[in-house]
This record gives sequence, structure tokens and C-alpha cells, in this order.
Amino acid sequence: MTPRPSESSTQHLAVPAEVTPLHEAGIEVIADGGIEWHLDASFLQSNWTCIWGRGCKGILDHPAEDLGQGCCSVGAELVDDEAATTAMLAGYLDAESFQFYEAARSGGVFSDDTKSNTRVIDGACIFLNRPDFPGGAGCALHLAAEVAEESALDWKPSVCWQLPVRVQWEMQETGVEIAHLRAWQRGDWGDDGDSMAWCCTEEPEAYVGDRQVIESLAEELEEILGTTVFVEIQRRMNSVEVHGEPL
Ligand code: SF4
Repeated sequence: MTPRPSESSTQHLAVPAEVTPLHEAGIEVIADGGIEWHLDASFLQSNWTCIWGRGCKGILDHPAEDLGQGCCSVGAELVDDEAATTAMLAGYLDAESFQFYEAARSGGVFSDDTKSNTRVIDGACIFLNRPDFPGGAGCALHLAAEVAEESALDWKPSVCWQLPVRVQWEMQETGVEIAHLRAWQRGDWGDDGDSMAWCCTEEPEAYVGDRQVIESLAEELEEILGTTVFVEIQRRMNSVEVHGEPL
């Protein structure tokens, strides 16, 4: 997956949520201690779904569904202690489940000594098994998590499981920090976004899920928001106020 700013990292707050009865322009506001979450209700109630392997055209400068790279073309940015965790988990992978096992053994899984990004090999993240790999296409870490019957959130770098959720932090003079949670947009990819041929959250192809994002990405959203805020936004999503129709 692509590098994303570290401000999108998971937040855990022990302070009980204080509900602010304010929502404007489709934004639900929930205060939680020193953080005020501004949540894009339209995205959370949309039926966006990841269509990797089912029509995803990737993030290159040309549509490339056949490559099966999804948003893994530029490797993953690692924050906090993720480099150590990623290296440790890579040690559990074998040649049957990890296409670039030998390359990892000889050259490591990081792009350089800073260990701030996963290595790109053959045009995509070293952990991305390609479509023809007998051990299974897709993220080798994700696949290993499934085999271990563990959450992929515990195996993959945070930037990988957070997409397409984007969090932008904005510190106020009052000391309150606003966290804007919304769908990833082309502009969030920086200069790379200008040349991207396709951006899944801005195209109709990916709005084909059978559930709303608040449900399909429940695990990811709870990890990002913390349980208290997640439960509150879930409650609002199910309320008359948000849907605008009786239950
Ligand atoms: S999140 Fe979007 S770009 Fe990434 S694999 Fe899924 S559909 Fe493709």
C-alpha cells in the first residue's frame, strides 16, 4: 500500500465520549476528551468496498487491472514501531506463502536502512504476491493472518488496513484537536495523485458493496476511532436523525 501520513495512525482514548449534537453538511461531530472527531457520514453510509481482484485498476498512471497491484504499487510507509513488527512477522512467512521469500532473505523487506518503507520489487510491495503465485495472490502478511486465524490489522502496516479511510488532524488554538475522517482522495496521494489513472474512492466501480462502510469496515473504524466513538457513530448511523427516515 502507499505511504500515508503518520497522522492517520490509530487513536486510543480512555476518556468517555461527550456527544456533541452538531452535524453539518453530512459531517457527524463527536467529542472525545481533547479530540473532536468530524466524520463524513456520506462515506460511512456509502457502499464503497475494496474491489481488489474484482476490477480494481490500481494506482499507476494507466489502468492496470491485470497486474493485481491494487494500491500496493509503491510499498508501505511504516510508522512508530511497525518496522520491528513487520520484520518479525516476515520471519513467519515461508517460500510457499511468500512469493519474494528469497529476495527478502537476501535483501531484506525494507527499502533502505531507515526502515521507513517496505521494499518495492518488480513494481510493487515485496509482500504482494502476484496473480500467478501458486501460494495465493495478495498481501502475504494478510494471507498469513488468515491462516493464523488472527486479525489482518495485527499483521499489516497500519497504512495498509486504513485505506480508504483518511484521518487529517487539525490542532485548534483552544487546544482541541479536530480529526477529520473521510474517504481517501486523489489529492491525498500527493504528486503521485496527479498522474494516477484511477482512484477507487472517486469512481463508481468501487461503490458496489452489499453493506455500508460503517459495517463493512467496522473493525478498522473501531481501531481508528476507539470503541466509545465508534459505538456512538454506529448508533447515529442507525438513527432517524442520520438516515432521515423512521426505523
Ligand atoms: S483500496 Fe482501492 S486501490 Fe486499493 S486494492 Fe482496494 S479497490 Fe484497489
